Amino acid sequence: MRQFEKPIIVSSKCIEFEPCRYNALIISSKVVENLKEYAIFRPVCPEVEIGLGIPRDPVRLVRDKENTSLLQPSTGSDLTSKMNDFSNEFLTNLKDVDGFILKNRSPSCGIKNVKRYYGLENAGAVRDGVGLFAQMVINKFPYLPLEDEGRLRNLIIRENFLTKIFTLADFRKIKIEGSFHDMIEFHTRNKLLLLAFNQEIARKMGKLLSDGKLSLDGVKNDYGKLLVHLLSKDPHVSSNINVLMHALGYFSKKLSSAEKSFFLDNLEKYREGRIPLLVNINLIKSWILRFDVEYLDKQTFFQPYPENLMQITFIYDKMG
Ligand code: SF4
Repeated sequence: MRQFEKPIIVSSKCIEFEPCRYNALIISSKVVENLKEYAIFRPVCPEVEIGLGIPRDPVRLVRDKENTSLLQPSTGSDLTSKMNDFSNEFLTNLKDVDGFILKNRSPSCGIKNVKRYYGLENAGAVRDGVGLFAQMVINKFPYLPLEDEGRLRNLIIRENFLTKIFTLADFRKIKIEGSFHDMIEFHTRNKLLLLAFNQEIARKMGKLLSDGKLSLDGVKNDYGKLLVHLLSKDPHVSSNINVLMHALGYFSKKLSSAEKSFFLDNLEKYREGRIPLLVNINLIKSWILRFDVEYLDKQTFFQPYPENLMQITFIYDKMG
């Protein structure tokens, strides 16, 4: 059974931690609630950190030609510098972080589609903004997993996000205390997962380990950069299918034609977006156990994050 290192996640404090929204409410998120047991959260409320109370008058993004400001219409206060200074300092001082979960549509935390108003009063708005804190996250950690709690309700987005943060957490531990042998083991058990994300970068990572040109710290550093880069994009459906087909090759001679056609049928449904990757993974996992294929059993592709989060994934979507 795979042991999981806890990912470190910076999250908006109003999601499941404190009722710190402008109206003193808290946002519920099943994903965050259930991740609490498996992750280390660093919740933060940027608006409270810059001195706004709870409850408080709302703030909004206001556009002026090229610039976007954070203003409080009731007082006319311009909070842009305060928010940028706080965000810069907070994020600069973050020691370790594997990903971010921020509140959607907030003028401070929203990662996309935040309303930008044309003025303070009675002004129209376009939904093309990014909250100021979120923008600083994007600037400082352009390749780290970043999602909002709304997007995480989507099964595929959630699968990818969880896969990324648990892979990064696993590597973070090795980077701190691992030997060269641990690096090789990491690469070996993640091989199929890395190939699914990006074959070209995965091969560069393998070459880095076999080259023997750098010191251990040098290898860890360069390998870590490539890993973050590789995980910065989601894997293509076709790449995941290639990995699943590759796995099928390990037991195809032992399966009945009905089992194989059931599997291929499911792959097609996955390609069409009608079922999640997890369904196919579970099918392969059942064959890994049945035929005792040790190499595949160790591959993180088939268990990229804790099993309980996988089961919860299904429950959420059934509940809608
Ligand atoms: S969205 Fe961000 S700034 Fe607004 S209440 Fe939540 S944590 Fe605070």
